[in-house]
Amino acid sequence: MAKRIRVGVNGFGTIGKRVADAVARQPDLELIGVAKTRPSFEAEDAIRRGYPLYVSGGGDRAAFASAGIATAGTLDDLLSDVDVIVDAAPDKVGRENAALYRAKGIRAIFQGGEKADVAQASFNAMANYAVGHDKQSLRVVSCNTTGLARAAALIDRSWGVESWDATIVRRAADPAESKKGPINGILPTFQMPSHHGPDVRTVLQDLPITTLAVVVPTTLMHVHVNRVRLRHPPANAAEIARTLAASPRFRLFRGWERVEGTPQVMEFARDRGLGHNDVMENVLWEEGIGLHGADLHFFQAIHQESIVVPENVDAIRSMFSLAPNAEASMAITDRALGLLVEGKSIPAR
Ligand code: NAD
Repeated sequence: MAKRIRVGVNGFGTIGKRVADAVARQPDLELIGVAKTRPSFEAEDAIRRGYPLYVSGGGDRAAFASAGIATAGTLDDLLSDVDVIVDAAPDKVGRENAALYRAKGIRAIFQGGEKADVAQASFNAMANYAVGHDKQSLRVVSCNTTGLARAAALIDRSWGVESWDATIVRRAADPAESKKGPINGILPTFQMPSHHGPDVRTVLQDLPITTLAVVVPTTLMHVHVNRVRLRHPPANAAEIARTLAASPRFRLFRGWERVEGTPQVMEFARDRGLGHNDVMENVLWEEGIGLHGADLHFFQAIHQESIVVPENVDAIRSMFSLAPNAEASMAITDRALGLLVEGKSIPAR
């Protein structure tokens, strides 16, 4: 068997712990360890999962020791032992960490909280899988951008996009956060258009997309309200629903499934029981897809905590040329993660 790529994860919060779990399940990747700044229940959980734990971000090994949590070394030790590090530190800390990775000559994957120029290219598997080949650094775009890029890549290659206008209804905080809001209010984002459209263009350069955003008091998911003018519209909305449902990383709910909104999506996730109750797919409703002439209207929901997780795995595979194309990499990733793979395919261009 070919040598597995040795992966470390620096930052073991919402995204980092999920990426670590995903990497540990891949047949061609080996999780060498995870790095954390302070002891916490999550640090203890890393040990329980069998992940060697390293101390990063100015943390103190003695603090872990006094909490009874064994550490395997410092970030520097972890970096000495891996082929690539996935940085999942908080927004803007990844940029500071980039200097450490460069100094060690270690390839790095950054997250969407960093500006695009933190890495040589921005990445989304469906939109621009091949961009990663032989890169030293990649940035996996943010949760909202990932959701928009997947849908736009698919819709553009199937029917052509004349223009795309999206309103992003953003969750106020992640479920584990207790210091963010609003808890009672709807906050328009006065950056107009919002940063999401330009961010989508870091992976789909020619997409004519404009976005606005509003923050609402929920922690469950984001919802995108999309208005797309198609160049070559299909006969009806059912064809669009069929194409999207048959594509990897899309989950279409039918009317009879009685999923009215994000609360039932999360209940579906709890029942399905992937790790952390995750929903790594773009969530669509059959009844939430409408075609009026050339105008496609559709809603999609995005589980912010997990949608970027398979993309991090594909970014590593692209960087090390472990799979010939997006479809092959996504199938390996998704099978290992327990997502639906059979009967799924990306439409030809
Ligand atoms: P988080 O706060 O949940 O986790 C960050 C972790 O990094 C924490 O465990 C923190 O202790 C640790 N940390 C702090 N300083 C560090 C340092 N110097 N070195 C290493 N680790 C350090 O944050 P998150 O939500 O997982 O976000 C991580 C990145 O992923 C950000 O760029 C964010 O924008 C992006 N992202 C987040 C979401 C989301 O909805 N949570 C979605 C997509 C992308």
